[in-house]
Amino acid sequence: MTLLTFRFAPSPNGELHLGHAYSALLNRQMAAQAGGRLLLRIEDIDITRCTPEFEAGLLRDLEWLGLQWEQPVRRQSEHFAEYKAVLDRLIAEELVYPAFMSRGEIRAFIAETGGRDWPRDPDGVPLYPPLDKALPASERKRRIAKDMPFAWRLDVEAAMARVSTGPSWSEFTDDTMSATRAIEAQPQAWGDVILARRDIPTSYHLAVVLDDALQGVSHIVRGRDLYSATSVQRLLQDLLGLPAPRYFHHRLILGPDGRKLSKSFKDTGLAALRQAGLSPQDVERLVGL
Ligand code: GLU
Repeated sequence: MTLLTFRFAPSPNGELHLGHAYSALLNRQMAAQAGGRLLLRIEDIDITRCTPEFEAGLLRDLEWLGLQWEQPVRRQSEHFAEYKAVLDRLIAEELVYPAFMSRGEIRAFIAETGGRDWPRDPDGVPLYPPLDKALPASERKRRIAKDMPFAWRLDVEAAMARVSTGPSWSEFTDDTMSATRAIEAQPQAWGDVILARRDIPTSYHLAVVLDDALQGVSHIVRGRDLYSATSVQRLLQDLLGLPAPRYFHHRLILGPDGRKLSKSFKDTGLAALRQAGLSPQDVERLVGL
């Protein structure tokens, strides 16, 4: 039997808080129960917001919690060439296209056309208008040569058509502690998502599916805030011929205002709790483990 593999994949763009602690500790618990391995991955493709200081801080926090992980730790910013190779393949297959519209242009276009009825993604952001997808190749080339800013967007319709003959592209398993059910993935709800930036040859979605496959991750245990994103990631996995992991989307730890914790919430930061004298066991109790 192959070893089950779990991972905790934080982004070093702020300090870890109780929500991260819950996710990391739950991964450890589920890996231990399954007799599996636990990997740590540093998701630092956003090189403007991620810093070595935040990374050092999160490693300190996780060590303090008593987490152990295998070496070497994969740091995404060291693998841009690998992501670029896959992006180039998608460009060659015309499954992504350069998208030039700025936020202001998108807003103006929507105001002129659909207004309030324009469809929005699960985060409430208006879907990308279809204009750039229809641009002739010569116009794309002209704009890129003129150094106009753009991002590579997935042609979600073409991608879905491509994988529709495959076995189970449209399903992912959402585990709860007691039951497993198949969920129909709905990547179209996000429209044409960004798969890479002009300067950074990947996005969260692309890097995460490539790394999960490369690292043999079989079980993805992460917060419910990423539940809808799984649809996009299942589509990419099938498109790129990668295996489908099992998904478990866990409850979120909420702040005193009943909202999801954010990295700016200083008093639930793990470093602050440590300095206030709490022990790792106190943290486990606080998150209900
Ligand atoms: N790096 C992501 C985050 O910190 C998590 C990605 C994932 O678990 O798939 O929100």
